[in-house]
Amino acid sequence: MATYLFDIDMTLLATGGAGVLAMGRAVHDLLGIPDGMAGVSYAGRTDRAIARDLLSRGAVDPDRLDGGFEGWLDRFASVYAEHLGDALHETAGRALPGTHALVERLAAVPGAQVGIATGNFRRTGLMKLAHYGFGPPLDDGGFADTHEDRGQLVAHAASVVGGPAALARPAGVFVIGDTPLDVAAARVNGFRAVAVATGDYDFDALTATGADVVFEDLGDGDRVLDWLLAASEAA
Ligand SMILES: [Mg+2]
Repeated sequence: MATYLFDIDMTLLATGGAGVLAMGRAVHDLLGIPDGMAGVSYAGRTDRAIARDLLSRGAVDPDRLDGGFEGWLDRFASVYAEHLGDALHETAGRALPGTHALVERLAAVPGAQVGIATGNFRRTGLMKLAHYGFGPPLDDGGFADTHEDRGQLVAHAASVVGGPAALARPAGVFVIGDTPLDVAAARVNGFRAVAVATGDYDFDALTATGADVVFEDLGDGDRVLDWLLAASEAA
C-alpha cells in the first residue's frame, strides 16, 4: 500500500503561462489592477495564498469586502476559471515528458493510490488537467480551496487519496513536485519527497532541499517507477 500525490504545474504539465495570464485578467476585472501578477511569487504556493497577496497589492482590506476574504476568494476563483478556459487555448502548454505513462503505470500497481496535491483551486486545477488529457485517478486529492498552507494541504490530500491508513504510515506517502515548497510540505508530515527539475528549480537546487530523490524529469518511466516501488516496499 502506498499513496502517490502529484503536484500539477511544472510537475505533470506546463500551461505555458495560461494560469498567470488568466489570474492577471481576473485581478484586472475585480481590482482594476492592470499588472496584478507582476512580482507575485506563485511557484509552489497555494492559490489561496496568492489571492491574499493580490488583495494586499491592491491595498484592499479583506474585511471591507462583501463576504470578507472568503467572499473575495469565491469571486476571484470564479472569474479566474472563466479566463483560464480561454487562456489555455492561447498559450503553448504541454504535458511534461513521461507523465501520462507514469501515472497510468503507477495506478495499475496493486495497492497503489494515486491522486493530486496541488496549490491550484479544484476547479481550475481540474481544468488544466483535463486540457492536457489527464483524467481519473488525477481528479481528487488536495486543493487550495480549503487549504492555504501547503503542508496541511498535502496531509489532507493523503487522507483523501490514501484514507486514514496513509496518515498512519507516513513513509508510504510520496509527494511528487517541482519546488522546495513541495519538498517542505512532504517533510513536515513525514512523507517522502520526490522532486522533479522540470520547473523553476534545477537538479542541484532541489537536491539541496533534502528531497529523498531528484529526477531531471519524469521521462525515464522505468527508472522513476523502479525507485518509487522500491521505496514503497522499504516503507
Ligand atoms: Mg508545481
